[in-house]
This record gives sequence, C-alpha cells and structure tokens, in this order.
Amino acid sequence: MAFGTLGRMNASIADNLAQVHAQIQAACQAAGRPESSVRLLAVSKTWGADAVRAAHAAGQTAFGENYIQEAVDKITALHDLPLEWHCIGPIQSNKTRLVAEHFDWVHSIDRLKVAQRLSEQRPVHLPPLQVCIQVNVDGGATKSGVAPQDLPALAQAVAALPRLRLRGLMTIPEPAESPEAARAVHRQARQLLEALQAQGLALDTLSMGMSADMEAAILEGSTLVRVGTAIFGKR
Ligand SMILES: *Cc1c(COP(=O)(O)O)cnc(C)c1O
Repeated sequence: MAFGTLGRMNASIADNLAQVHAQIQAACQAAGRPESSVRLLAVSKTWGADAVRAAHAAGQTAFGENYIQEAVDKITALHDLPLEWHCIGPIQSNKTRLVAEHFDWVHSIDRLKVAQRLSEQRPVHLPPLQVCIQVNVDGGATKSGVAPQDLPALAQAVAALPRLRLRGLMTIPEPAESPEAARAVHRQARQLLEALQAQGLALDTLSMGMSADMEAAILEGSTLVRVGTAIFGKR
C-alpha cells in the first residue's frame, strides 16, 4: 500500500462509522427507542484485513461476512483482535465445518440439515454458535430464507439442537417502493418473531435493515442493522 494511503483509509472509515451511528441514533429517536437497543454489524465482505483493523480502531467490534473461505482467511489474520464474526451469506453443506469452527454467529440458517451439521461440528472448546433463522417474508422467488409458514417447525427444531443457541430472525427484504411498503415487510418479520416468542422461545434478535431501509427497520423493532458500503465504500 502506498505511503499515506492507510492513514486516509483509517480516517474515512472512522468518519463513515460516525455517520452511520448518527443515522442509527436518529432512527432510534424517531422510534422512541434507546440507541443501545440497536447493534451495528459492519459488513466487511470483499474488504481486506486492513479495513477491518481500521474499523476496529474506530470502535467497531462486530463484522459480517458472506463468503466463507474469504472470511476464514480474514478471521485467521485478525486473531490478535477481540472481534465478533457473523456469517450472513448462504451456507452450502460442505462449508458448515468452517463456519462452525470460525464464526460466533450465523444469521442465514434456512434449513434444518445445515443447522444440524453446524451443531454437530461446533468445537467443544467454543461457546454455542449464536444463530438466527433467515425468513423470506416478502416471498422473493430467487431468495434464500424459509417461508413464513415453515418457520415455526424449523425454529422449534433448531432451538432443540445442543450446540446452537437460537437468538432470532434475519430478513433481507426486496427493495420497497416506499418507506411505508418497507415498513410493512419489517412489521411482518417482527410479528413472526413475536409469534415464536409466544410459543415459548426466548428470542432477542431481529437482524434487519441495511443502508436504504435502516430507519424503517428500526421503527419496526430491528435490533441489529447490517451495513457495508456506507462504512467501507463501494465494492
Ligand atoms: C452485503 C450485505 C449487506 C450490506 O450491504 P451494503 O449494501 O454494502 O450495505 C447486508 N446484509 C447482507 C445479507 C449482505 O449480503
């Protein structure tokens, strides 16, 4: 890296993080919620270990990754830092061992087979893997995520796995035509979470909201927003 480039990258990542926190704070204020009720997940996919170090230096500790092998290389390179790693991308069966061994959280559980493998493969010296079930609330045909009608059975089965701890739901809505339309989808996700809580599951996490729909998501109860581009720049 050319002399001086790293300093500029660090400064802009710190500035960007401050801006995203200001957006979260404004949305929380509009929702009448404490800012501490929403966590920021910095999505670092395609960015190198240097960018993650810069974000950590600016106070960020939780990072989201989509591509398993890329993530494992980064996690290994950054072992000296106390970071929390979240898998937010699709997981093929042949990648579950890497995920079980290296991540703290998985947001993208959408079938029992993958959850069972993660539970079997979670190393005994690590705490249970914290997981969310990805739900396809708006029925986008090409998307991953369990259909709402199949969610209760999957949630009960995942909650029973010994080495996983089911924390809640994740959703990636289609881009909406209006803030009201976005809110309607987020509201459905919250209602699905509440229905599972009413069935006795102790869930505390609603992973929804990205740069474009953060305010709508926070108004409807999101507890974790996932932001990449606004922190690290265009991929
Ligand atoms: C890439 C990604 C994000 C972040 O998207 P940006 O547009 O870069 O903010 C959030 N959630 C998921 C599931 C992603 O794959």
